[in-house]
Amino acid sequence: MTSLKLTLVTGRSLNQGRWIDVGKLTKGYYESVALVELDPEDFEKLGLKEGDRVKVESKYGSVVVKAVKSRRRHPGIAFIPMGPWANQVINPDTYGSGMPTLKGIEVSISKTSEEIPDFKKLFPQIFQPESTGDPPESATGETKIVKDVVCSFCGCLCDDLEVEVAGNRIVKVGKACALGVSKILHARENRILHPYVRNNGELERVDLKTAIRKAAKILVEAKYPLLYGWSNTTTEAIRVGLELAEYLGGCFDNTSVICHGPTILGVQEVGYVTSTLGQVRNHADLIIFWGCNPLNAHPRHLNRYSALAKGIYAKSRKDRKVVVIDVRETDTAKMADFFIKIEPNRDYELASALRMIVKGYDIEFEKVAGVEVEKIKKLAEMMMSAKFGVLFYGLGVTMTLGKGRNIEEMLRLAQDLNEWTKFVVLPMRGHYNVVGANQASAWTTGYAFAVDFRRGYPRHYPGATSAPDLLNNGDVDAALIVASDPVAHFPAKAVKNLLKIPLITIDPKWSLTAAVSTVVIPSAVAGVEVEGTAYRMDKVALRLKKLVEPPEGVLSDEEILNMLLEEVKKLCR
Ligand code: SF4
Repeated sequence: MTSLKLTLVTGRSLNQGRWIDVGKLTKGYYESVALVELDPEDFEKLGLKEGDRVKVESKYGSVVVKAVKSRRRHPGIAFIPMGPWANQVINPDTYGSGMPTLKGIEVSISKTSEEIPDFKKLFPQIFQPESTGDPPESATGETKIVKDVVCSFCGCLCDDLEVEVAGNRIVKVGKACALGVSKILHARENRILHPYVRNNGELERVDLKTAIRKAAKILVEAKYPLLYGWSNTTTEAIRVGLELAEYLGGCFDNTSVICHGPTILGVQEVGYVTSTLGQVRNHADLIIFWGCNPLNAHPRHLNRYSALAKGIYAKSRKDRKVVVIDVRETDTAKMADFFIKIEPNRDYELASALRMIVKGYDIEFEKVAGVEVEKIKKLAEMMMSAKFGVLFYGLGVTMTLGKGRNIEEMLRLAQDLNEWTKFVVLPMRGHYNVVGANQASAWTTGYAFAVDFRRGYPRHYPGATSAPDLLNNGDVDAALIVASDPVAHFPAKAVKNLLKIPLITIDPKWSLTAAVSTVVIPSAVAGVEVEGTAYRMDKVALRLKKLVEPPEGVLSDEEILNMLLEEVKKLCR
């Protein structure tokens, strides 16, 4: 049977993003992530037709997924959207950074007649909840338009949305992208409406007090609990979570560990020159997207802040040059003036070559990182001659080999460029308040992620006190997950260990993690049902609004965590 050796890249896709809020246990989510996108030529070489299944095998595991012929050319690269299927084949090793290797993995792909595993096959203990939605009567009552609503989906935190509310129901979301509309309009779908506790393998409904008592008992009895998540909730809730972690002597980690943890490590080493998105919008005449695809992951970024934004000095697209650097031709690459296709895992080399040219050194090779030196010189020239350049970078750089070292080299490149012109760097942050999780953790403990309180004071050792490593090594004996879904996004090895320990989930929605938990506590959706503070990707703090009432009896994360903290203190007295 024909098989091809390809390089695997995982990441977000528009469809995956849309289905997250409709429901992770739905057929739509399954169909949007249990697939591999192949270059049209690679697809033909494997003798595939649409709908065929393929087996993807790496050193770390194997999985069967549906084969999809890509709309774009990316020979040699296979793309699986992030999710439980991609997790079966990714490299769990964080190489001391806290970040598993989720991109640039060698895989072999062949056609198969085997079935694609479903949720039950992957996680036998999964609970299938009844589907939920808005009760029809909630749409009756006064209709109002709420203006300047902040979208709580991605790190852009667009703050110009107009939401139409009828009674206690959201009926229309204006100005948001498809991801923002999906989040707000589907806020009432797939909801957890009652607390649950697992008894004899089955989740059973209980009252809130019983669930809090059970959760507190699990945490107090644990020798070393992990408190993880925090990027999809308010900064006020994160602050209480930090207090709880300190009280328990556990480990507090947020989802930046598997997105921009390497950015934080890079910034700790060399510092960085940055700006707000407002400065970029008004001034930037050169915009570089390196290892990110905002058209899919941050759809309004280009219109509001960067390539297509109407600024004061850079007034329109024609006043800006746009460059995309990526391992495959993405949707964003299609609209760039200059696209540089780089070989996987070679970002550090390209950044070093650019630094050499900027510093006036010669390069004695024809190609670096698979890119002709002439092209690299052209890019360096564009950078040096810009009036205000900005380098936006994403998970394509943080998740590949090199991780924090890639970031250091890119930050140094921007510093070098400031000897010529104004040049800034901005990481493209994913979850809407992942920056808030870093900020609150840093101003409380001195460390932005992977904070260990076992000795009674904060310590930070990425690679040891980071959630993926703690789970890979089986170092924690209980976990509290707040507004996050590690079962869907952690490597298979870490998930296997997570499923062996008592698991408490606080979340508005049925995630894969909630469905396999020991205790499940429903919470209100921040930015829809409760207000609070969130930090945009450029660290600007914005206030989330309350648009409708939460379901009856459902409290905010902050209120639930305060109750849990009180109960923990009571048990420890
Ligand atoms: S770009 Fe992000 S913050 Fe803006 S509307 Fe879309 S999902 Fe929401």
